[in-house]
Formats: sequence, structure tokens, C-alpha cells
Amino acid sequence: MNFESRDISEAEYNKLLKDLENLEYEKKRSEAITSIIQLLESELSFEMIAEEIVRIIGEFLGVSNVTICKWNTEQTKVQPTVEWLPKGGTPYFAKVDEELLTEYIIKMKGTLVCDENNQSEVTPLLVKRGIYAMIAEPVVLNGNQVMYILVADSDRNRSWRSNTIQFIVDVCKILQDILEKNISKNSLVSSYNAIKEILDNIGNGLFVIDKTTKKILFANNTMKMMAKDDMEGELCSKYGFCGMRHKCENCDILKESSAYFETYANDRQAWYDVKFNDILWVDGRTVAICNVLNITEKKKIEKRIEFQANNDFLTGLYNRMRCEFDIDKRIRNAEANGLKGYILFLDLDNFKHLNDGLGHQYGDMLLKIISLGLQQIKGIEDSCYRVGGDEFVIIVENEQIDRADEILRDVKELFNKPWELNGTEYYCTMSMGVVSYPEDGKSVQELIKKADIAMYDAKKSGKNRIVFYNAKNESSSIKRLDLENNMRSAIALGGNEFEVYIQPIIDLEKEECIGGEALIRWNSNNLGFIAPNDFIPLAEHLGLIVCIGEMFLRRACEICKNWSDKGVDKTIHINLSIVQLVQNNIVEVINKAISDSGVNPANIILEVTESLAINDMNNMKKVIKEIKELGVEIALDDFGTGYSSLNYIKQMDFDIIKVDKIFVDDIVSDDYAQTFVRLITELSEKLGVKVCIEGVETREQLETLKAMKVSLIQGYLYGKPIPYREFERVFLGINQYEEHIDLTTN
Ligand code: C2E
Ligand code: CA
Ligand code: CA
Repeated sequence: MNFESRDISEAEYNKLLKDLENLEYEKKRSEAITSIIQLLESELSFEMIAEEIVRIIGEFLGVSNVTICKWNTEQTKVQPTVEWLPKGGTPYFAKVDEELLTEYIIKMKGTLVCDENNQSEVTPLLVKRGIYAMIAEPVVLNGNQVMYILVADSDRNRSWRSNTIQFIVDVCKILQDILEKNISKNSLVSSYNAIKEILDNIGNGLFVIDKTTKKILFANNTMKMMAKDDMEGELCSKYGFCGMRHKCENCDILKESSAYFETYANDRQAWYDVKFNDILWVDGRTVAICNVLNITEKKKIEKRIEFQANNDFLTGLYNRMRCEFDIDKRIRNAEANGLKGYILFLDLDNFKHLNDGLGHQYGDMLLKIISLGLQQIKGIEDSCYRVGGDEFVIIVENEQIDRADEILRDVKELFNKPWELNGTEYYCTMSMGVVSYPEDGKSVQELIKKADIAMYDAKKSGKNRIVFYNAKNESSSIKRLDLENNMRSAIALGGNEFEVYIQPIIDLEKEECIGGEALIRWNSNNLGFIAPNDFIPLAEHLGLIVCIGEMFLRRACEICKNWSDKGVDKTIHINLSIVQLVQNNIVEVINKAISDSGVNPANIILEVTESLAINDMNNMKKVIKEIKELGVEIALDDFGTGYSSLNYIKQMDFDIIKVDKIFVDDIVSDDYAQTFVRLITELSEKLGVKVCIEGVETREQLETLKAMKVSLIQGYLYGKPIPYREFERVFLGINQYEEHIDLTTN
């Protein structure tokens, strides 16, 4: 598509719609006037013609009444002759007494206009009868007013456009001509002159063609101006308006009694709306009257509106509607020609939080630069779509299929760098689902659905990755809906289905349990036992984690408080999702959990993940600082899997770094893993930060770590997560059963 400008504002867009409406009106007006002109040569009785005229006027203007009235034979009263009403309308002029009609019409000199802006002495009389707007136009014959066209409307807000008034005036002239002809069968010459005068005064181009000779018999002034030629006497083929570029001999349009089409004239670079109709010419011949309206302006507006309908205001990328249209086209083309292609479905990771945290201007800015970035990737310049707030689709067509791997790599790389917004760098990754067409689906809905399933799988496996659709993840999507519904009701029922498990954390030097990490489990009545990795990502996606997380935090605080009450001074680690962390009231929520439970905040360690890095660093620093001021410690979870650097740890003032399990898995054999862990422990020592190694399963791993000044260890070697009561019994020596007996004996 080729547009002068890809960006227009919404105000401009609305103006375009208004312009289009005006042009639409013009077109309808021209159609109405053409139909009335055709009645000129009709053989019908005057009454029938009059009926036709009021109907055409009424339907075109959409008013509540159009009436033609005339003087009675005695010339004493004006009476309605024909009255048109829309379906279900009520007749007005039967209600209007003849005296009023006569009285008021006699006074009338020329056009009378009453509406919201034009009041006259008859206005109150009309209003009394439910008429709020009216145009009355006399038909003059031999200098006398003989008839009147009355157009009336019950709409209080109706105000007549000047071109509507002109339209009624034009119709009256035609009516006058019909009357003249009916009264005295005029000579051919005067009839021709009368028609000519009427046709010349009409805004559209009009010309009349002899159907046998194909010569132009007549062209009105507008037409002559449009053609920049006199036209009359020439062959119609000379003027390309009918859209037929071939010779007259081959033209069959005149064989039809009517035809309608839009055509583009290359030489004029203009669009025309062309309508052919047979009429009886003044000399009795059947001729074709051709009505030509220049609709170039309208076409331009339509194009721009089409652009707006297909494109996204913010980014200028194609929108969802266009995306669905294009995918459909590609599938059908692929099926017909044995081709294939890919559809990539991207969803930004944690965009909502960034948007909420930084403000919408930043969110918008980010969407724009991401869009620009995508469009610069070779092979997909013209096939990127924004299909939702933070969702994008890319179509990799058959011609690009050899480059598919490179395209995927380029997209991934685009998101692996920070985005610069107003001089600050932000990380915002994306999760992508990929389907191939027509293999994975033969309809748009099916493909989008499957791409979404694959995308969701990418989110679930930790975000910032690409997943190709396969039938396996299909069943997981059905589960996802089930999961969502059950999760909502589990929350509504008070959250009792969510259970607290605790995994011990061991101080390596003292070889003692310093407490543990509280890990959530969902023991669903309907779905059974669900591990956190299977529902936390969805809970985060749906925002439900805020509620679940808060309940869990409060429970964990109560559990820890109970330990102190039993004289056991141990710490509890509690995971905070990034989604919770970006809530405005997070400090308040934590504060309340601490004070309501009465727990010693020094025993609380909140674990946050590295995906933190995507957010506003300064704001996050502030929040972390405020949380720490409550007296709790902060641990950086899953270190080594994200983006953050040690510098970042220092800035954020973390107390503990939890090194991800992946480093432990290979620590015995892999030099890199060893070097990495050693480096972290040494640097951490200098920064005054403790290091906790997660996922220690074997003795060998433990021995290797012992040599590295690691302070804390967590792993199956020491214990798996177990229900908190069991943890209390096994690791803290708190016996709930004894306590129960104590309570009853007291
Ligand atoms: P995480 O915070 O990294 O928790 C450690 C996970 O590693 C736990 O999985 C734990 O069972 C597992 N793990 C510990 N030691 C070993 C080991 O030696 N070998 C193996 N193979 N695994 C070990 P879990 O409990 O399934 O939790 C998974 C993740 O779910 C957690 O990872 C955390 O990100 C999330 N999660 C759990 N509870 C909560 C919660 O209450 N709130 C939030 N926001 N996330 C939670
Ligand atoms: Ca954790
Ligand atoms: Ca972890």
C-alpha cells in the first residue's frame, strides 16, 4: 500500500469519516435526482409520477413526511394530493387544517425553511402538530404558484443542509417541467430546451448517448467541464468515463437497459462512479443517459480509512483484523500451491508490570521501538502485526522459508538486548509460539489457537524462549482452562487448598539447619496435587498470584512466629513473585503480614528473582530499600539464569544470593561451573553477601562446594520440601502432637 502518510491522528480520522459521510450523501443525492429525471419522459399519469417523486425524496432524506399539495379547482383552498410516510409513520397534512395550509402558503414567497435554526411565524403552529422542521417549495407555472412540495420532520434537532434545500428546489423545477408538458403537449424544441436547462443545473456530469450510433446527443455543463470538451456529436468511446477502453464496436454496455460501476480513468488519474439508464428522449427515441460522478476524493478517503482499519494507531503495524485476513490468504494459497510457512506468535514477558510501573507513555514508547525493531528484520518487513496490547504476530511466508531460522534468531536477538527508553535501559523479553501452516491448521482460528498454546508453553517453561507447536502441548492447554477456573474457585474458597511445604536450608560451616524455604503446593480437590511450576506461571499471567502470594506470605509469617513462641529461633524464606513486587502497596502488604502475625522480621527472608532486571531500576531500588527497612532480608533467587551482574547485586543491596541448581548439576565435572561458583562466593564475601547453593543432591557436589566458602546449602541431599508440620518435627524438633496434649492437660 502506498499512502502519503502512515500516521494520522484520531481527530483527523474522525474528520475523514465525516467527509466520507458527506460524499456518501452527495452520491445518494445524485442517484435520487437521476431517478426523478427519468420520470420526465414517463408515460405514467401525473398522480403516479407525483407518488414516485415523494417516495424518492422521502427515502433519500429519511424524513417523516413528504407531501405535494395543490390548489383546489375553485382556487379557494390548498389541499394535499399525495403524501408519503415512512413505514409506520403518521400522516401530518391530514391533521393540518386546510385553512392553516392555505393561510400560510398564500403568504409564502419562494422557499420556506423552518428548523432548529430557522423559526418563522408558522413554527409554533407546526410544533403544535408535532412538526419540528419543514421545507416548503412552490412549483410555479406561468408565474403562478400552483403546487407545493412540503418536506416535514418530527426530529427536534433537524436542521436542513443547504444542499438539501437546493435538492428540493431542483425537484420542483423538474415537477414544473412535467406539469408544463402535461398541460400543453410542447413542441420538441421547447421540451428539449426545458430538459437541457434542468440537466445543466444539476451538479453531476450527465450525457445522453444514442444507443445505435453511439454518438453523444447531449452533455450538461458539468460533464463538459469534466471532459474539457463539448462532447456533443462525438462517439462516446472518445471519453473513457464508461471505463471501456476498447472500440465502440466491441462495447456492449449500451445493450443493457441499465448499468452501474466504478471506474478509474488512467489519463485523468481519477475515479468515477458511472450509471447508465435508458430513458425516452424528447424525440421518442430510447437513449442511454449516463450519470458520472467524480469520486476520487471519496476513494482517497476510503483508502485512508482502510489503512486505519488495517493498522494499529500506536505502532503503525498491521492490526489483528488485517492479520487474520492475511493468514487466511496465506493458508489458502499454501494449500492450493503446495507451499508452507510459519506463524510466530509473540507475547512480551511482564509487559503489564513494566507498563504499570513506569507509566503508559513508557509502555507505548517500548511498543513502538519493538515494532520498529521487528520491521527491520530482513524477510518480515511487511508481515509484522500487533494483534493485542503486547502481542505480536509475524508471518514467515513460503519465499522466506529458507531464512526462517535466521528470522527466529534475529527476533530472539532483538529481545536479548536492553531497550533504551529516555536514556535508561530496560529489559523486556518475549515468549514465542510457532506454528507452521497449512500443516498445523487450515483455519486462522486453529492456527492462532495453537500458536497461543505453544506461546503459553514458552511462558510456562520460564519465559524468554521459543516453543514450536506440537500436539503434546495441546492437551496442556485444555488443562490450562481447567486450571484457571479451579484456581479462581480455590482462592474464592479462602485458599485452604494451598499448602505450605518447607525445605531445609543448612549452614555449611556449622552443619546445622538455619530454617527453610517455604514452597507452595496446591492440593486441589478437583485436580489433585499440583506442583508450583505447573500453576505459578499461570497465576502470574492472570494476576492471581497477588492474592495467592499474600495469603501464603501471611501463613508463612504465622508459622515462623509459632516457632519463636516455641523457643525455636529459625528463619523462613518466602518467595515473592515479580508480579507481587511491582504492586504499589507491596511494602504495606509485607508490613501488615509481619505486624499481624507478630513475627520477628529478622527471621523473614524474601526471595525475589532476577527477572527484576526488566523493571525500572531506580524504582525497584527504592522498593527493596523500603522492604528492607521493615527489618527483613532479601535474597536474590535463581542467580545465574537471568541478566543481572554482581554490580546489580551491590546496587540492590541483597543479603543472600541463591545460585541456581544448573551450576550445581555439573559442578563436579565442569570447570566453568566451578569457576563460576568460586567467583561468586569470593566476590560475595567482599560485598558482605551470603551465598546459598540450591539443588545439592550428592555427596560429591557437597564436597566440591565445601572447598569454596559457600555459606548455605539447600538440596535433596539434606531434605526435600515437606509439609510444614513434618518439617517442624523433623528439623526443628517441634512436636505438634505433644503440644496438643499439653493444651488439653492444662
Ligand atoms: P525456587 O524458588 O528456585 O525453589 C527451589 C525449587 O528447587 C523447589 O521446587 C525445590 O523443591 C527444588 N529443589 C530444591 N533442592 C533440589 C534438589 O536437590 N534437586 C532438585 N531436582 N530440585 C530441588 P518447587 O518447590 O517445585 O518450586 C519450584 C518453583 O516454584 C520455585 O523455585 C519458585 O520459583 C516457585 N514457587 C514455589 N513456591 C512459591 C511461592 O510461594 N510463591 C512464588 N511466587 N513462587 C513459588
Ligand atoms: Ca526460591
Ligand atoms: Ca531458586
